[in-house]
Amino acid sequence: MSGGLSLESRYCSCEARQRMLRNPDIPVVFDSVLREHHLIYEGKRTGRMILQFCPFCGGRLEESKRGELFEAISDRAVQEIVSQVKDVKDRKGIEEKFGQPAREWLSSELDIIEDAKKGKIQAVLSYSNFSKVANVVFTLWTASSPEVRIVPKSKDLIEKL
Ligand SMILES: [Zn+2]
Repeated sequence: MSGGLSLESRYCSCEARQRMLRNPDIPVVFDSVLREHHLIYEGKRTGRMILQFCPFCGGRLEESKRGELFEAISDRAVQEIVSQVKDVKDRKGIEEKFGQPAREWLSSELDIIEDAKKGKIQAVLSYSNFSKVANVVFTLWTASSPEVRIVPKSKDLIEKL
């Protein structure tokens, strides 16, 4: 018997995983664009974790396409964005500085609209003109300062711009 730990190199093709994905009561979904299996959890926070191995047979799951689909964002690009957005305090300040958002989410499009500490979401504004590789998304809360997220642009989108 050989000792040590080795990662499974065989890919999963088992029926149990197919049944799991068909069962709406099991919180694992397959993202067909990213080619990833996501475990979805809901509690105080909601989120997703990427599964790399099949929980039934231990086989490897598909290779993610995430790296091919999204631009990598350098630390420098992140710092540049952060230095531009760090002083904004509300919607008025955001629009004075950056103009109208490229996109505004409707509350019906959001997964979460309320948070125990931050209050309710007033608006989610997305700007695509900050950088070539990332969109900047502001979430405005009733009881907290704006949250800023830096979201990689998809490579498709960049080619179209
Ligand atoms: Zn399997």
